[in-house]
Amino acid sequence: MEVKVDLHLHTTVSDGRLTPSELVKYTAAQGLEVIAVSDHDITDGLDEAYATVQEYPNMTIIPAIELSTAVPDDEVHMLGYFIDYDDREFQNMLDNFREGRLDRGQLMVNKLSEYGMNIEWERVLEIAGEGSVGRPHVALALVEKGFFKEPRDAFDEYLCNGGLAYIERKKMTPVQGIEMLSKVGGAAVIAHPARIVGLDEMLGDLKKAGLAGIEVFYAKYSAETISWLYEMSVKHDLVPCGGSDYHGLGNTGEQVPGSMGPPMESVERLKAISDDIRKGPTRSGIPTS
Ligand code: AMP
Ligand code: ZN
Ligand code: FE
Ligand code: FE
Repeated sequence: MEVKVDLHLHTTVSDGRLTPSELVKYTAAQGLEVIAVSDHDITDGLDEAYATVQEYPNMTIIPAIELSTAVPDDEVHMLGYFIDYDDREFQNMLDNFREGRLDRGQLMVNKLSEYGMNIEWERVLEIAGEGSVGRPHVALALVEKGFFKEPRDAFDEYLCNGGLAYIERKKMTPVQGIEMLSKVGGAAVIAHPARIVGLDEMLGDLKKAGLAGIEVFYAKYSAETISWLYEMSVKHDLVPCGGSDYHGLGNTGEQVPGSMGPPMESVERLKAISDDIRKGPTRSGIPTS
């Protein structure tokens, strides 16, 4: 089946390597019709993406974001779709998260030097550009200096969660993430959930808190994992979502946009959920506000 939808994509405003405009052109060339620009803790790529998509009348962009939340000993990424990203309070919170990324990035650079890997924090900032600084930018600086062959190698021992140079930063809980997204009309979707310990129980809890969907058709997942996650989506009445999580970092075997994605029906379901959120809380289907 031809892939028409990719709900998970990054650009240069966070840790992707294509500008929003380049991403739109690339995904259009890959035959995609609906894409979500879902950068980490930032929405600054959306205006440029919208400007470029004018050249592609058959293509639609969903305003999205990927938030990092935490549970004890693990990280849970929460995607949000159809968000009102102009909201001031929402943007203030994102500003705060990005500030936390700066402090923590610097501390990771210090930590790396303790292991004899000296990179300049200034260089990391240069690679990251104006937007949201993340571990992949540190990884790129390490590769540039010849400490690793590819960015992902820097994660194996050093930058992965709990790794030798990993530094924690303050994060919301998944429920707080869902609430933050709901306030701006966003349908919350749990990202790449396959390795989360206790997923089944967590999904039950998060569904009660307003979780709308779960990534199922995630490009890095095997057919077995996808069918298990699909069952989870049915069991918990969650919209099955997914995409490539494309970054363009230059890692071997990186999945590209168009390689995997959910059906168009999932987009329609997310939109309907977002519309419902905007109508406010309902009792027996009747809006109370
Ligand atoms: P950050 O937002 O700084 O926490 O960095 C998260 C990003 O780092 C993810 O979106 C991935 O691009 C990348 N990443 C996280 N863990 C790994 C890993 N184990 N291997 C390769 N890349 C990873
Ligand atoms: Zn990333
Ligand atoms: Fe993620
Ligand atoms: Fe991602």
